[in-house]
Amino acid sequence: MSYTPRIGIVGGGIAGLAAAWSAAETARERAQNLDIVLFEAGPTLGGKAQSLKFAEHGGYLVETGPNGFVDRDPIVRRLAALAGIEDQLVEAQAADKRRYIYSSGLREVGPHPLTLARSGLLSVRGLLRLITEPWQRAMPADPKESLHDFAVRRLGHEAAERLVAPMATGVYAGDTRGLSATAAFPSLSRFEQEHGSLLRGLRAQSRTDRSQGKSPPLLLSFRNGMQSLPNALGATGRFSVRMHCAIDEIRPDRHCYQACWSTPEGDQGTDTVDRIIIASEAPVTTRLLATCAPQASDALKHLSCPGVASLSLLFRRSDLAGFPKGFGVLMRHGQGQRVLGCLFETQAFAHRSAKDTVLLRFLLGGSLDKEALDLDDDELERVAFADLGRWAQVAGPPTVRHISRWRQGIPQLEVGHEDLVHRVNAGLARTPGLSIANSGLFGPAFIDAARAGWDVGAKEAVLALQASNSR
Ligand SMILES: Cc1cc2nc3c(=O)[nH]c(=O)nc-3n(C[C@H](O)[C@H](O)[C@H](O)COP(=O)(O)OP(=O)(O)OC[C@H]3O[C@@H](n4cnc5c(N)ncnc54)[C@H](O)[C@@H]3O)c2cc1C
Repeated sequence: MSYTPRIGIVGGGIAGLAAAWSAAETARERAQNLDIVLFEAGPTLGGKAQSLKFAEHGGYLVETGPNGFVDRDPIVRRLAALAGIEDQLVEAQAADKRRYIYSSGLREVGPHPLTLARSGLLSVRGLLRLITEPWQRAMPADPKESLHDFAVRRLGHEAAERLVAPMATGVYAGDTRGLSATAAFPSLSRFEQEHGSLLRGLRAQSRTDRSQGKSPPLLLSFRNGMQSLPNALGATGRFSVRMHCAIDEIRPDRHCYQACWSTPEGDQGTDTVDRIIIASEAPVTTRLLATCAPQASDALKHLSCPGVASLSLLFRRSDLAGFPKGFGVLMRHGQGQRVLGCLFETQAFAHRSAKDTVLLRFLLGGSLDKEALDLDDDELERVAFADLGRWAQVAGPPTVRHISRWRQGIPQLEVGHEDLVHRVNAGLARTPGLSIANSGLFGPAFIDAARAGWDVGAKEAVLALQASNSR
């Protein structure tokens, strides 16, 4: 009888589910059998993508993690098609794509230079320095350069503080003085290398896209929230899913691995797998690697993942008369705001609350304010409500609040990140059959996690099937 190889996957977030799906697809394309089992510690699939739907107040939908994804890689669409929910994709509303930075008031920012010029975000001097960017000397890419230093060098101090830092907050909840320019925003660094300038690089990119008939990437989500995708991927029966099953230890055992698990009820057991893909958050992955790939674990422990609190508040629309149109606002650090940013959920995706309500989501915490996660719920709401009052007219309190604290929040691709990835990979190379999908190593976004999971799932499936053929 032919041997059916077995792959274990730790974690039922988008990275783990994408890995499971691509492994299953690889086996199907090769017409070979592959046993795939995904272990999820928690009660639901999706990891940080948790979408909570409520019927009260005319109905509303709270996203506690990602509220959408930028469609810059076809991977999420492909997964949606495989799971049969492509028709549930929704685009952020065109009219409300305006974004703001809070810097002594709300400043509208957009890709058009005139919007920025009119916003008053930068002084005339700062603006003039910004537009001289194409004439600034290009330097070789330096993995030791922080995003802050890179931005100051290319765009000037003001733009670095008032424009780049809030934008980095929006992606990483991070500190530009710690984030790496080459790892955290590789396309900016690439523009400097290839075009000698960010502005020239951006223009060249849009010319190429236009000539290839590509439109700028859209901001997409799913009608019933981001968790729709993980739920649909897990429900297809293409692989086994074991919920409430936390992997506590991975033991190498000659040519296979013993995945030791436990449940909240105290049950324990061990599954034997030929290959294992770890798709948990970086701190858990670090712990699991300690016994089976100590060098990789030693390297990965330096990937910082500061926590983030997400606070959703539902208001009566009449209490927010004159509320700014748009997608959301990011705060410039040091302006007396504790909130990092606020997403105007209802305006970006209209279906997220009823017509007479407005759903706002505030993010707090991150690298520069780790203590925010320790505020109790009332204090978090008080802080967010007070900050909101600085830039919007609010006539009444919220009718509903939801709070999630992600203690292993957003991975920071800091200076030295490329070296960290190299050391993790060198450590893993000593342990054949063991891979990491994502854990924040390859980017902070939902789409990065999906891509990393998909690629590693296919690679591991091929290796598992090849090994079984040679048995
Ligand atoms: C507040 C917030 C807002 C965000 N907003 C956006 C956004 O708007 N757009 C965007 O693109 N990205 C956003 N992100 C980032 C995005 O959520 C992540 O990139 C993505 O969800 C990571 O997916 P993942 O599968 O790698 O990890 P996770 O989603 O963290 O999944 C890891 C899974 O592993 C499980 N697990 C952990 N330990 C074990 C164990 N021992 N055994 C078994 N299972 C285990 C966990 O329970 C979890 O289900 C946001 C993140 C946060 C925190």
